[in-house]
Amino acid sequence: MMKVTRRGFLKISGLSAAVLASGLGFDLEATAAQGYTLKLAGCTKIPSICHFCSGGCSMLLYIKEGKLIHLEGDPDHPTNEGTLCPKAASLAQVAYSPDRPKQPMYRAPGSDKWENITWEEAIERIAKKTKEVRDKTWKNTEEISNAKTGAKETVIVNRAEGIGFIGSAEVDNEESYLITKLSRLLGSPYHEHQARI
Ligand code: SF4
Repeated sequence: MMKVTRRGFLKISGLSAAVLASGLGFDLEATAAQGYTLKLAGCTKIPSICHFCSGGCSMLLYIKEGKLIHLEGDPDHPTNEGTLCPKAASLAQVAYSPDRPKQPMYRAPGSDKWENITWEEAIERIAKKTKEVRDKTWKNTEEISNAKTGAKETVIVNRAEGIGFIGSAEVDNEESYLITKLSRLLGSPYHEHQARI
């Protein structure tokens, strides 16, 4: 019996479909092109940027009646020239996945489940925790060695040791500016960005 590998099977079935279609007088390429055109008929095309990593690839989103019908890489964009990696190619699933959280969630200490909470509750909690951590980890002074003499001396540092900020590829210039401002305001010297990690 002839052994057929998975790749071989796909090749054979592709060939069979092509042979069958050409035998019946179909032009597969023309059919595919027409299917594509029909799928996108009536859609609004919106250029956008993928948010998954700092690559900044550009996508074209096709929207009809408020729903994402199709997405693909933007051929005119210099970064990705029409291509998309698998993460971005499957972005529609993120938009419509039933598992996608749509509101803040909270897991109490020791609990094994997450509960939905309101945005007001989440913001209130984050504010309280930030204050609590800032008060607990605030550092006024630090002992350092004098660079010239080597002698120990105490300098004023005034920083929140327990708070750090991390930016993501989804953060734009204006948001980065605001995050930096907030971090300075709280006294945290710790900034990082996903692209550097
Ligand atoms: S398409 Fe892929 S490589 Fe490009 S930005 Fe999105 S995740 Fe990064």
